[in-house]
Amino acid sequence: MMKIKSVKWVSLLLVAALFVIAGCGNNNTGNAGGGNTAGESTDSAAVAKIKERGKLLVGVKYDTRLFGLKDPASGNVEGFDIDISKAIAKHILGDENAIELKEVTSKTRIPMLNNGEIDMVVATMTITEERKKEVDFSDVYFQAGQSLLVKKGSPITGLESVTKDTKILGSKGATSIKNIKEKVPGITVLEFDNYQDAFAALKAGQGDALTTDDAILYGMASQDEGYEVVGEPFTDEPYGIAIQKGNTDVVQAVNDTLTELKANGEYDAIYTKWIGKAPAK
Ligand code: GLU
Repeated sequence: MMKIKSVKWVSLLLVAALFVIAGCGNNNTGNAGGGNTAGESTDSAAVAKIKERGKLLVGVKYDTRLFGLKDPASGNVEGFDIDISKAIAKHILGDENAIELKEVTSKTRIPMLNNGEIDMVVATMTITEERKKEVDFSDVYFQAGQSLLVKKGSPITGLESVTKDTKILGSKGATSIKNIKEKVPGITVLEFDNYQDAFAALKAGQGDALTTDDAILYGMASQDEGYEVVGEPFTDEPYGIAIQKGNTDVVQAVNDTLTELKANGEYDAIYTKWIGKAPAK
């Protein structure tokens, strides 16, 4: 009797031990995949997926001088947003070139992020309450404000000279469209797929003014001296890096990168390189 009893106990202990080992096994896989750097959250395994892939997929603009512009001759994409993206790749993967840039527009960036084509959007994107329902955002990494670009000599000198009969041009999916409609009720806005098309339309005389963030408009004005930015910025456009909802470890890695860049002076250097002056403190 005693013997049977002890065999039973041994079997029970064995089964229990197996459960413990199996449990540990699972945990180990989870943690190893997590590859957590100190301070990074373990809530999701999205950083682990990026590390496994070995490159960061970033959605950037290809038609926005100063932020993300593709040089058709070299094929290189350059700008403020690109330098920030490279710094994030360096932080996560230890190599700023472990990155693949994919073109987004104001209209395509949220769908491309949420269907998994890209890990993040670094593309002149304003943090808004409405967008926060669809994506998560990093801390603010650039402060812009909406303004107007006109042909030199235009009677439009700022928002105060815009009436509901002014023909405004903009880009689909941009906050600028909604903002101008709120500021000037009843106004007509011609919406284009991207900023290159909107600027071409302004030059072709299809509208009186192009509206978007001042920083983007200064980039356009620097391309063609026949055009100028007028008036004071009339909205606040704090840029954030958008990340799929729930990927808290990626948000943390991005915020850690921004903190690092600000602490070591690299943020100021990138800002000055593209904007031409140091950021306001
Ligand atoms: N920052 C504004 C936005 O997020 C305008 C620039 C853009 O269209 O990307 O909509």
